[in-house]
Amino acid sequence: MGNLIDRARVLDERDPLGALRSRFHIREDLIYLDGNSLGCMPKATPARMTQTLEAEWAEGLITSWLDAEWATAPQRIGDKIARLIGAKPGEVIAADSTSVNIFKALTAALSLRPDRSVILTETTNFPTDSYMMQGIEQFSGGRIKARAVAPDAVLDAVDDNTAAVLLTHVHYKSCSARDMAETTRRIQQSGALVIWDLSHSTGALEIDLTAANADFAVGCGYKFLNGGPGAPAFFYVAGRNQNASPVLSGWFGHAQPFAFEEAYTPANGADRFLCGTPYVLGLAALEVGVDVMLEADMRQVRAKSIALGELLIQAMEPLCRQYGFTLASPENPAERGSHIGYAHENAYAMVQALREVEVIADFRTPEMIRFGLTPLTLRHSDIVEAVSRLGEVCRSRSWDRPAYRTVAAVT
Ligand SMILES: *Cc1c(COP(=O)(O)O)cnc(C)c1O
Repeated sequence: MGNLIDRARVLDERDPLGALRSRFHIREDLIYLDGNSLGCMPKATPARMTQTLEAEWAEGLITSWLDAEWATAPQRIGDKIARLIGAKPGEVIAADSTSVNIFKALTAALSLRPDRSVILTETTNFPTDSYMMQGIEQFSGGRIKARAVAPDAVLDAVDDNTAAVLLTHVHYKSCSARDMAETTRRIQQSGALVIWDLSHSTGALEIDLTAANADFAVGCGYKFLNGGPGAPAFFYVAGRNQNASPVLSGWFGHAQPFAFEEAYTPANGADRFLCGTPYVLGLAALEVGVDVMLEADMRQVRAKSIALGELLIQAMEPLCRQYGFTLASPENPAERGSHIGYAHENAYAMVQALREVEVIADFRTPEMIRFGLTPLTLRHSDIVEAVSRLGEVCRSRSWDRPAYRTVAAVT
């Protein structure tokens, strides 16, 4: 461990992103390895929220829709997120939840491929992605078929009846990352559209939706973007697909919302995928998180994420030998995103015991400890220290308590 501590110190001293950590509220002593689930709060967020509440809402009231630019927040923040994911201005909006945006993308894709009836995804995907597909199948009375095949069988399952393929860029459990450009190219050869779920990659990996020729994409605001609990998500639609028909044809997606016309006429561009009134409070917090992220160079973010991961894997090696942890993420950093999973039969109890020593990681069924690696908020030394505390949990068997045997409702 000694030389790892030294190495971590050197890496921290040279870290070009090191200064950004001070922009977040992080409790002293806490090592937070769950920022891929709920990101830390930027220190600037409370002041921004107070301004939105007191000056814009309490004082400005309805005039703030224009004066405080509430009405255009989805597009303004969408354009900022666009810079993080290689999209063009006007292709991204910040709105609704990721689940709802998945529904919008799938149904929009179906509207562009009216003579095809299959929407395809992979088994083991984050469940909401599959659930949204199942809902569409049910609503369609069976005309649309939702199919899920094993992750490595997806490309072979695409045929000329496939309207759209929904894939996660970085898998929420294993953390394996797909080659976005190559996968998109192969799927599009069959005429299907490709929808990328970027929940676990936005703000952690370099993404270039334009270069990858992606059709649609969605992602979370509360994970690596640090937008706060329940932050609005984002929705990307490539310029060429902006003639798709929105099924959630709400008034904010209308060409003239304030004309209050009887008939629905979709707005031009990505705006047609807005639905109802923007979540102003959530958007205010999200914008702070996105602004901080934009200060970082995504190449440096990715490089640090890899360095944190390599350090973690190295530090974990003795624990793997001694206590039976198994690496459950790709060993090759080029093939993984920004968290690392370890399988262990007592994973749940260990995650609980880690909290006692101020390390927050998370548990994913059936037996995975997941360590999120957030380059803006973590130091290399935090990784080494977290593994050292895990080693102590193993040695002392502090995880072996009846209270840690029952799995809580939220993990
Ligand atoms: C976190 C996550 C979601 C979350 O969806 P919500 O609608 O925000 O609850 C969806 N898909 C993936 C792949 C995720 O990792």
